Amino acid sequence: MKRFVQILAVALVVAACGTKEPEVKYVFYFIGDGMGINHVVGTEQYNAATGMGPDSINFNHFPVRNYISTFSLTSLVTDSAAAGTALATGFKTYDGAVGMDQDKHPVPNLAEMAKAAGCGVAVMSSVGVNHATPSCFLAHAEKRNLYGNLAEQLCDSQADFIAGACFMTGRKPEHPREYYENMAQEKGYAIFRGPDVSAAGFADGKVICLSGKQDLQLPYAIDRQEDDTSLKDFVSAGIAYMERHYLDKGFFMMVEGGEIDYAGHSNDAVACFRELTDMAYCVDLALEFQARHPETLIVVTADHETGGLMLSSGGYVIHPERLAWQKYSIDRTTELFREAFFPEGKPYKAPSWEQVKSFLAEHFGLWENVEVPQKEEENLKKVYAETFGKGGDRNLSVKNLYTENYKMVSEAILCLDRIAGYQWSHPDHSGSPVGLYVKGAADDRFNTVKDNAQIAPIIAELAGY
Ligand SMILES: [Zn+2]
Repeated sequence: MKRFVQILAVALVVAACGTKEPEVKYVFYFIGDGMGINHVVGTEQYNAATGMGPDSINFNHFPVRNYISTFSLTSLVTDSAAAGTALATGFKTYDGAVGMDQDKHPVPNLAEMAKAAGCGVAVMSSVGVNHATPSCFLAHAEKRNLYGNLAEQLCDSQADFIAGACFMTGRKPEHPREYYENMAQEKGYAIFRGPDVSAAGFADGKVICLSGKQDLQLPYAIDRQEDDTSLKDFVSAGIAYMERHYLDKGFFMMVEGGEIDYAGHSNDAVACFRELTDMAYCVDLALEFQARHPETLIVVTADHETGGLMLSSGGYVIHPERLAWQKYSIDRTTELFREAFFPEGKPYKAPSWEQVKSFLAEHFGLWENVEVPQKEEENLKKVYAETFGKGGDRNLSVKNLYTENYKMVSEAILCLDRIAGYQWSHPDHSGSPVGLYVKGAADDRFNTVKDNAQIAPIIAELAGY
């Protein structure tokens, strides 16, 4: 019997060599949207100081740890669509393009190539399923904001497993979300929501997983309640699905940590670090899979940096432990601020500075747990006066790409971040390089990569697409 096993083993090796099996059978492609190198390092500092997550972010210690440029053909500071297209297809293009080259010709992406090679395909995000990054793996369009068109293409896609918070419909929706959900079902996708997402791993046909809530994004990790859906829920179900259906043929799975970018646009360091940690938990699942199946490649990167985050606000010291006092994300704190000072059904009465101060102490530890320098206090008082003082605008807010928050809340977060040693440059993307982190079969091939457009062709070659 032992000899028979030996002969069989030799025969299998010969057969594998004869057919030139690709080096990589299973691909995990993680894209931290807006995840700069400083975001990763800052997250490690925050976790180590507060115990809110692992001291070391798994992928930051992969065998290949490189950095890449992200510019698009129209700007040194790319948008998510052009960078997503480069990451998905290997083609540099103009800002706003989804899966199209500079001449507006559709170009094939890794998910389509994997499907053509007979592999399973999963595309996931913590934001909308038809947002820029996932769309670069599911669709082709001249502009990223053609949400209806992107949703329709998604319904026609060959992907086996699609997951995200919702179908986005844009500012002037042509149709409500339900229209696209119905269309997906008509085209053969079964939809799983919220707590039912884990059952998607045991489904037989094509599936779409959505959040159980109505928001455009999954709840931020820092705000998450017990029953809320997380990106990890999607990835866990996706791996179970692929293990059941595509273990023999192989699979390609793209996972976007989309809310790292949302928190970056809002300049909310704590929400950002918690989102990044959340994506690392998803990478843990890929690492567990890789331990069982060595012919697995894990690539982690970002489309661009968001916010121009600096790991210093001057001086030669950082105090990440001070960030521990922030309880919720900027968006959730805005809701609580509204409830506290603009209670529904009650006549408006401007709160005193002491009342606002006590709110900020409760939610950010300012004064109570973290000393506030005089200059910072003066700035907060100024925003208080602009908001609640005589002739002030009580709805004074700060708008960014995705949300609108009270300026008082936004300034308090910027203040806490600065006091802790984290300073944001602006609410937009930057042209800073981002990290490329690779572990697994043939990972050394990524050592020489210098630009985001070089990644996809290597993955395609290694996986035999
Ligand atoms: Zn992006």
